[in-house]
Amino acid sequence: MPNIETLRQIASLNQNAKQIINRNPQEALALANEALNLALEAQDPTSICSSHYFVGSSKWRLGQLTDAITSLQEADIINKYLDQPVHEVEILNTLGNIYLDLQIYDLAFTYYQMGYHAAQHQNDPKMIATLLSNVGEIYRELNDYEAALDHYQLSLDGLKNLDQKERIIYPISNIGAVYLAQDKLDLAQEYTMQALELARFYDDRIIESLSLKFLGILAKKNFNYSLAEDYLNQSLTLYSETQELLFSTDVLFELHDLYTEQNKIQQALIYLNEAIMIGEDLKANHILKQAYQRLVKDHQALNNTQNAFFFMEKYMEVSEEIEKDKLDQKLRSIQLMKQADITAQERDDYFLLNQQLEKAYQSAEVIHAIGRKVTATNDLEALYNIVYENLSILMSSTTFGIAIHSENLKALQYQYLIVDEERMENHFASLENKNSLAVQCFIQNRSLVFRTRDDIKNVLHQTPSSTIGSVMNSMMFVPLVIEDKAIGIITIQNRADHAYNEQSLKTLETLAAYIAIAIRNTQKNNALKAQIEEKSSIQNELAKLNKELQDLSEIDGLTGIANRRHFDEFYEYEFKRCLRSNEWISLMMLDIDHFKEYNDHYGHLQGDEIIILIAKLIAKHAKRSSDLAVRFGGDEFIVVLSNTPLEDAHRIALVIQKEISELTLLHEHSPIASTISLSIGIASLIPSTECSTNALLEKADQALYKAKGNGRNQIQIYKEST
Ligand code: GH3
Ligand code: MG
Repeated sequence: MPNIETLRQIASLNQNAKQIINRNPQEALALANEALNLALEAQDPTSICSSHYFVGSSKWRLGQLTDAITSLQEADIINKYLDQPVHEVEILNTLGNIYLDLQIYDLAFTYYQMGYHAAQHQNDPKMIATLLSNVGEIYRELNDYEAALDHYQLSLDGLKNLDQKERIIYPISNIGAVYLAQDKLDLAQEYTMQALELARFYDDRIIESLSLKFLGILAKKNFNYSLAEDYLNQSLTLYSETQELLFSTDVLFELHDLYTEQNKIQQALIYLNEAIMIGEDLKANHILKQAYQRLVKDHQALNNTQNAFFFMEKYMEVSEEIEKDKLDQKLRSIQLMKQADITAQERDDYFLLNQQLEKAYQSAEVIHAIGRKVTATNDLEALYNIVYENLSILMSSTTFGIAIHSENLKALQYQYLIVDEERMENHFASLENKNSLAVQCFIQNRSLVFRTRDDIKNVLHQTPSSTIGSVMNSMMFVPLVIEDKAIGIITIQNRADHAYNEQSLKTLETLAAYIAIAIRNTQKNNALKAQIEEKSSIQNELAKLNKELQDLSEIDGLTGIANRRHFDEFYEYEFKRCLRSNEWISLMMLDIDHFKEYNDHYGHLQGDEIIILIAKLIAKHAKRSSDLAVRFGGDEFIVVLSNTPLEDAHRIALVIQKEISELTLLHEHSPIASTISLSIGIASLIPSTECSTNALLEKADQALYKAKGNGRNQIQIYKEST
């Protein structure tokens, strides 16, 4: 039995969290987490559930949406075990809110509905009204303003007779939002102002910052830019005070739009950067998507096609991620709902997690894995392979096929068909062929499942035939649907009776959803790419040519470091600069020892590798912008070291020599060492008008010559007597 004092402490922590959640969610989270730890220690389900709820709500306000969902679902499941559920309606309502933020409207609706029923069951008029208002939000998001207003009105009516008047802020604010969306500016102003006043009166920061944002948008619509800026900044300040950064991104976007509207794009970009930082921090892809979309437009306006293209790619990437996340979320949620349902039914013997659930979980894992791979690829053929291979883990099949509708052929064309593990080509089912089950599935845009041959006869009213071999006893056909329209089908078939069950169908349907997304993404991607590429191809071509030209003239093709041409220019310039500033300049010449033998023994290609390696190593030591490492030709290199006296150049040469020997690149046929070595010559001077660039170069060359002559693998410094 948990200690009563502990329970009281937990309740008090949660109570405090509740009170400050609208003003300081960060602090509320800390309190609720503390409560949760105590509750877990005390093993008291009611307190655990309650604490999870406050942790989840705080995380929601802080924009940690995925974590918030996890906490709230934990709470939801625990509630099913309790004789007296705690915060049941609020938990469901908050889950609805989060899915609304994630724009997963069907799940938002499901949770609001569950919450609504629970609220009715508990006869809780306050929450009934709240839920009605929230359902209205879904309608508003979907631009069904009539239905939205109806819901808000119902909500208001319900709240009128209650004591807790502060709740009316929500529908009032929402009504303002609808009028704003409908461009009924006067009405929008009236309701929003009212919401703002009420929010300030009741100290509700959520609605206060929201109303300020709306007023900013209203002012912008009235072309009163300075007022708009003022309101939006007030809203932003409030959001950063409450640390509701996710919600502040909306305001950042409004500020951005305010500036672009005035053609101040550079200023506008600052707000996007901020939004991106928040989006990345909170892993909020839907924010990044909105930011990238704006970046594409901005860079197009700035005529910067390269950047526009870059952000378009980012936009596509993140859009794909979002689709994928939505599916994942749905899958997880459906799973949890099911689990919660079963728990409720069987809570007396809930230890016996039924087999089916476990299996469902297993297939969910596989589907999840496939989904990740599938949506990440742009290559449809590879995608079909992945699907086939992974599906085989879950269910056996004699036939597996994916067919896509071809308008030209008026047929379903099998892009991928495996019969008895063999790949079949050139199969299609004409849309005229009403006996084809694939065609029926496609035309009716619904899944078909057959468990026995009799099942099939009942549908076709005649003996079935197949366009792809013999008719199977068990068959499933699922349409591939994009935006409510079937674009093809996926089928899996087996000779045995009763090979597939409900679970198999669910699995196949989920996979079909993934595949449809991948197909659409590929199509969209290709179309968009083509469009942008066309636009920017000329510019790209030019830029590429320019770069190639420049590279050609300055960079050594093999090693990527500077070439002799670049050296001439650079050396001349630095030499003169040192002359003017009376500074030292040093030249270091390096040549690989007995490299001919190396090539002879190891081959030219491996010789090339050595040259590349050594070039990189040398280049690492030309650190400053006034230094330059050069491939002078063949196996010979030069390093220009400006503002560097002889001792320093010598020190660098020693380091290079040491590093090369440490690489121990075998050179078995070198007469002087077992590994690759260098001979190095150094010359330094403070340039004077009498001394030419060539003179110094010759001195370095002479030093190198001496190093070679003295037995190689050494450093020589030029001295007048050399
Ligand atoms: P040493 O310098 O010690 O006197 O002897 P060495 O054998 O290295 O003679 P030298 O520097 O005169 O010859 C350079 C050799 O480097 C000639 C050629 O076989 C090789 N070489 C030149 N350029 C390349 C190249 O791009 N790739 C490869 N693999 N070898 C090259
Ligand atoms: Mg050599």
